[in-house]
Amino acid sequence: MTETIIEMKDRHADEIGQLQTSCKHPEESEWLEHHWAICHSSGFSIKECAICGKEVDRREGCHKCGKEMTGYDWVEGWDVLKEIRDKKPDYNRDMMNIDFDILANAMYCNQCSEKLIQEKSQ
Ligand SMILES: [Zn+2]
Ligand SMILES: [Zn+2]
Repeated sequence: MTETIIEMKDRHADEIGQLQTSCKHPEESEWLEHHWAICHSSGFSIKECAICGKEVDRREGCHKCGKEMTGYDWVEGWDVLKEIRDKKPDYNRDMMNIDFDILANAMYCNQCSEKLIQEKSQ
């Protein structure tokens, strides 16, 4: 029986998954600009393993202070928002008066995220 395109894709996805799990990522690429679609930059750079293609590092600028962060050492805006709302439940709920200081899809360094949570939850 001939393998269908879907079965073939599944088989390759499995194989790629196995390769990426077992790979020790001995060779990293240079920093590459990440694109969520052709010609649409995601605003951050990544390093990929040259053997298995897995993303092994990401470089992102802090949305507040611009500090460059690598090694996944940052806090997502969504988590910052959640923490503020834990302390101040009505924060940014008013659609007519949104505080754009914190964007859910932005990234913040640890220092800025702590400062923002403190400032905004007062
Ligand atoms: Zn690898
Ligand atoms: Zn920062």
